[in-house]
Amino acid sequence: MRSSEASKIYFDRAADELDLSDNMRLLLLTAKREVQVQIAVETDHGEIATLIGYRVQHNNARGPMKGGLRYHPHVDLDEVRALAALMTWKTAVVNIPYGGAKGGISLDPSKLSTRELERVTRRFVDAIHDLFGPDVDIPAPDMGTSAEVMAWIMNQYGKYHGFSPACVTGKPVEYHGIPGRNEATGRGVGSLTIKLLTRLERSVPRATIAVQGFGNVGSHTAQFLHDAQCRIVAVSDAFGGVHKETGLDIPELLRYSSEHGGRIDGFSGGDPITNAELLSLKVDVLVPAALGGVLGKGNAASVNAAVIVEGANAPIEPEADAVFLERGIIVLPDILANAGGVTVSWFEWVQNRQHYQWDIHRVREELDRILGEAFEQVWHLSTSRKVTLRTAAYMLGIGRVGRATVLGGIE
Ligand code: GLU
Repeated sequence: MRSSEASKIYFDRAADELDLSDNMRLLLLTAKREVQVQIAVETDHGEIATLIGYRVQHNNARGPMKGGLRYHPHVDLDEVRALAALMTWKTAVVNIPYGGAKGGISLDPSKLSTRELERVTRRFVDAIHDLFGPDVDIPAPDMGTSAEVMAWIMNQYGKYHGFSPACVTGKPVEYHGIPGRNEATGRGVGSLTIKLLTRLERSVPRATIAVQGFGNVGSHTAQFLHDAQCRIVAVSDAFGGVHKETGLDIPELLRYSSEHGGRIDGFSGGDPITNAELLSLKVDVLVPAALGGVLGKGNAASVNAAVIVEGANAPIEPEADAVFLERGIIVLPDILANAGGVTVSWFEWVQNRQHYQWDIHRVREELDRILGEAFEQVWHLSTSRKVTLRTAAYMLGIGRVGRATVLGGIE
């Protein structure tokens, strides 16, 4: 199923509950602007490489459009379009004053040198610098991009528009970034997991957790939940994973991964496990924190978790979502579960615009408060309307965007 078809299914379910008209649905689903640009660069070997860059600006009813920039071989317009809409609902669920956008370039960052990545990034900014900016659309890191990439974006944008640190978030702390942005998505996934377990009257200490993906989101989620006394029984990345029923030593694994180019296969503190095996482990919580679409109709029946927390964007296909509902597996949806990243992006943007600096304590405190409030609102809507947490989150987000659209008017 195409990414945009999958996200429309979730949208329509909530729109039905909200009794939205067809005209309103079309207005809310249609992106404001979709851009596709050519990025021609010279490789380190003096050859010409031509890439395609996308930016989809979905909706700005509640504020400037906001969302990450993804560098991955699977990137295409349809995926970026679906992810841009997810950002609109995500910023609305946590009630921060943004709309939604997403960008991407189809490339494999591991196959490019740092200098090549920098050239690609700067050429992309050259092509779209008039279309984004602090009051229009603010990019940020996503899969395959990092704080370093964000620094190049700010620097290149500044060549056209002058000093504008708020044109992009997720920058290095030493270059106009904010402490706590790097950990924010994983911290949010972890703290919301604890809130959900508590609401479900399940024990947090010793709860068993499996995390698929050990990139930015997965590693910080594992660290946070390890610190909260949970047992991280398995983690994996694209190359394989490790499993230990009594709980992995996460600080040790983090050390291993930083010494092995980010890889975790070969870690001696556990037994090897494949991604497919990890997804079917009997655990309290499964956190898919890597690619989209990893749980589909082919493997939904083999999932043995009580709770699934979507660390990644769109890891569950609608067919699998239906299976989980039928089997009583509780799903905490991406637009709430991984909203910690964009929330701290907002703090960074506010800080940049005020030429002020926040410390890590303030960042964590305000992040926890915002996510906590959003969780309670989604939980309440889910129980009062007898809908899943996903439908409740979409109802909350779509309702807010719809109201702002009506209040602003379309004349
Ligand atoms: N890429 C992240 C997401 O999907 C963060 C976006 C942002 O900080 O703007 O939520």
